[in-house]
Amino acid sequence: MDFNLPDDLREVQATIRDFMLSRVEPRAHEIEDSNSVPPELLKEAAGLGLFGLSIPEEYGGVGLGMLGRCAVYEALGQGHMGFGGVISAHASIGTSGLVKLGTEEQKRKFLPRMASGDCVAGFAITEPSSGSDAANIRTRAVKKDDVYVLNGTKHYISNAPIAGLLTVIAITDPERGSRGMSAFLVEPQSTPGVRVGKIDEKMGQKGALSAEVIFEDAEIPAANLLGPEHMGYREALGILTAGRVGIAARSTGAMQRLLDLSVAHAKAREQFGQPIAEFQAVQFMLAEMEIAIQTSRVLWQKVAWMVDEGQDVRRMASVAKYHATEALSQVADKAVQVAGGMGYMKDSPVERYYRDQRLLRIYEGTSEIQKIIIAKDLLA
Ligand SMILES: Cc1cc2nc3c(=O)[nH]c(=O)nc-3n(C[C@H](O)[C@H](O)[C@H](O)COP(=O)(O)OP(=O)(O)OC[C@H]3O[C@@H](n4cnc5c(N)ncnc54)[C@H](O)[C@@H]3O)c2cc1C
Repeated sequence: MDFNLPDDLREVQATIRDFMLSRVEPRAHEIEDSNSVPPELLKEAAGLGLFGLSIPEEYGGVGLGMLGRCAVYEALGQGHMGFGGVISAHASIGTSGLVKLGTEEQKRKFLPRMASGDCVAGFAITEPSSGSDAANIRTRAVKKDDVYVLNGTKHYISNAPIAGLLTVIAITDPERGSRGMSAFLVEPQSTPGVRVGKIDEKMGQKGALSAEVIFEDAEIPAANLLGPEHMGYREALGILTAGRVGIAARSTGAMQRLLDLSVAHAKAREQFGQPIAEFQAVQFMLAEMEIAIQTSRVLWQKVAWMVDEGQDVRRMASVAKYHATEALSQVADKAVQVAGGMGYMKDSPVERYYRDQRLLRIYEGTSEIQKIIIAKDLLA
């Protein structure tokens, strides 16, 4: 067994970490204040291949396997989480369905523009009345000649306000429950009857915009059906499973940044005539952060490796996501504690991480849903 990432992936990881720390972080206040990511930063990200992480080289992408992608996601976690959120929603849940299930024609049409960052992608299953209970969505797609007519509302859809392409899950056969759903490639900016609603006002992850997407007799070409008809729910679960490994890796990166900030602060800040790093109470918090990081990292690396080996990771992806996101919440709390009052101030990255990280225990399946998946698999 070799627990070291291959040299080429370590180099990629270092490049992205450097980009996040030297290019994105200095503009964090701007992103927070404007709730938008400067377009030139997204362009730079595209130049580094971040929009094409999961897209095969033949379609203009970088074509990294899961281990490589997650190495990048860990690096993304070390900088502004809203910025990382835009990239990961695109490269993970926004892209993976098309890469896995798309016809050659669909791939040629969309993937090159997605790889260059010209077409940002997202994924839409959640609805106002069905979040965790995703098998109960109501958005309906009715086949009519060579189109499907979509009606319904999705909400909390990441990247929707900037997306050129959404993978949308809708019901095609209401008699068949979750076996009657299909996935569609929808171009929200150019399809009549598709409307992006008001941008959500969120607690954190500023710049990573989410919104409602409303379908009113929207005609989607039958050629945009993604994968086999009625198999959309199963495919959606596959997309979300892969996404969870990425979230575990992003969480690990966020924890690493919080630990680095905490160590630096503990050494620099003096109280009672000595650096607070001399106090065992503070040392213990740092040690607990390190334990959370090491365990989370080993987990995402193992699960990413399993994906690349073609193994079934439904249970392990949930294990990795649950562990890393719950650990991150504790690490963020400790980082605020180590920073003291400064950790509660708006101009501190620790305060920002404390808000930003909270989302990771909710989206792509809440912590409770991860435990349900794990237990169901254990008992099957
Ligand atoms: C900022 C943001 C971005 C998002 N981006 C996307 C996106 O890009 N695409 C997309 O499709 N969705 C997206 N989502 C939706 C997200 O996946 C859902 O919010 C999440 O799955 C939870 O659904 P819910 O909000 O309806 O909560 P609910 O399902 O109502 O859950 C509320 C609480 O009840 C618990 N609960 C529910 N069912 C059970 C159960 N059976 N047993 C025990 N506890 C249970 C939950 O764990 C949670 O604690 C996003 C959400 C947010 C906030």
